[in-house]
Amino acid sequence: MTDQLVLTNASLIDTDRGLRPNAAITISGQRIEAITFDGRPNLPPGATVVDLKGASVMSGMFNCHYHATYKGIGANPGGFTPIGMEAPPALQALRAANHVALALDCGFTGLVSAGGPHAVDVSLKLAIEDGLIRGPRIMAGSRDVSTTAHLQDRAVPWYWDIRENPGFNRCDGADAFRRGVREEVRRGAEIIKIFLTCGHPDVPEITAESDLTREELAAAIEAAHLCGVKVRAHAARRSAVLAAVELGIDVIDHGDGLDEACIALMAAKGTFLAPSMLYPYRVGQSATGAFGDSVKRGTEHMLKVLPLANAAGVKIVLGDDFGAVPLKHGEYGDELDFYVNVAGIPPLDVLRWATRHGPELMGLGQDLGRLEPGALADLIVIDGDPVADIGVLKRKDSILAVLKGGRFEKNRLPVAERAFGEARSVA
Ligand SMILES: [Zn+2]
Repeated sequence: MTDQLVLTNASLIDTDRGLRPNAAITISGQRIEAITFDGRPNLPPGATVVDLKGASVMSGMFNCHYHATYKGIGANPGGFTPIGMEAPPALQALRAANHVALALDCGFTGLVSAGGPHAVDVSLKLAIEDGLIRGPRIMAGSRDVSTTAHLQDRAVPWYWDIRENPGFNRCDGADAFRRGVREEVRRGAEIIKIFLTCGHPDVPEITAESDLTREELAAAIEAAHLCGVKVRAHAARRSAVLAAVELGIDVIDHGDGLDEACIALMAAKGTFLAPSMLYPYRVGQSATGAFGDSVKRGTEHMLKVLPLANAAGVKIVLGDDFGAVPLKHGEYGDELDFYVNVAGIPPLDVLRWATRHGPELMGLGQDLGRLEPGALADLIVIDGDPVADIGVLKRKDSILAVLKGGRFEKNRLPVAERAFGEARSVA
């Protein structure tokens, strides 16, 4: 056995330059050792060689708004079930393990959490690193941190007298936010989720412009950064987006109400944007009445400003509320398809969001997001060309192989008896 692998006759997807045919990628241990395009692969003696017969090879994708435990959120016909209380914690952890394996099989080698109960993300990450379960690289999330009477807090009837909400960390005042953020870090969170506003898809009129005061927001961001972790804000109002970006938030989630002032500031400060637009788009397709109208108006606004944000160089990332009705885990490719075919973003740009901005957010931008010598070999082999037809990514079976750090996490590549090609050893 050798730990050297050569993928020949590949169509390499470079999100700056497009499709580059006839690539031969030599992987040695965890990293890419060489790439040639001249038909003369770098073939170390004893390496395993696989002829990909023109299949596409791309960096692994990152989903940067991921809720590993979510399943059927919003489906309860009897009313709202507080997030984290929809099932016993152990069942939620098992669901999460199933979801992250699905993500890997769909071509995602990285997940950045947008919040999860019971610190499940942290154990999930450890279990993957221990080899106990299969899964992508994970940046573990926190409970949702916000104030008393934030809409999510109000959704739990006060007379239930819940002492500890597994999905929600309630804080009031700057000191409480510092402590709240540090509590999440103590539990292992690597990225803190603050609910700055409610909303997305719809912002109810009764709610505040911002649930946190500026002092609370500043304290939360500062505490996270002092602890060496990232902090993201669910912000669905223009004024809240501006305040959070000014104060140094790392990621704006959703950003409903985004305008050119927000875009300019985010581009200047390098703030990431997770627009997560598939969720409101889908909700709007079936919603009726005043709510439906409001959701559709919000989506139309975002469809107008998203290309502006992309053109201005805002670091947009993929990720959506999969596991909340009507989005199902495993249907991650639908999001890429939406951005290309509904939002009109060029496919290479969407693929760049998926492959390059995610590693940058995770702090792995030096090692991941580009297929080049020296980079970690996190890559996927696709039966089809997603630049010509992004829809191939909607089909899990199109993902023939997934490598993480040079190791196969999924391998449906040809072996001798398969028609697609054959593996052979070079003497
Ligand atoms: Zn979310």
